[in-house]
Amino acid sequence: MKTCRSCGSSVLALIFDIEKKLLFCHECAPRFCPTLVRSPVYTDKDIALLKSMGIDAGTGRIEQFLRERRNELELNSNRG
Ligand SMILES: [Zn+2]
Repeated sequence: MKTCRSCGSSVLALIFDIEKKLLFCHECAPRFCPTLVRSPVYTDKDIALLKSMGIDAGTGRIEQFLRERRNELELNSNRG
């Protein structure tokens, strides 16, 4: 479980707004991101299953962000 820093709720997953770099729970979503469309929460296993079934999970932008973020972290850790 994860803890929302805004309201203190213990939740299964937090929502990360890539553009604003904000982390919040689904209850706080209307306050931080009023335009967010409520939708099911998918885990990485759900996404892998959807892809294996040939279903576009629409996560390409998020995956690209995470790849870039991971590369940044690796570069920074290699610099010592
Ligand atoms: Zn919250």
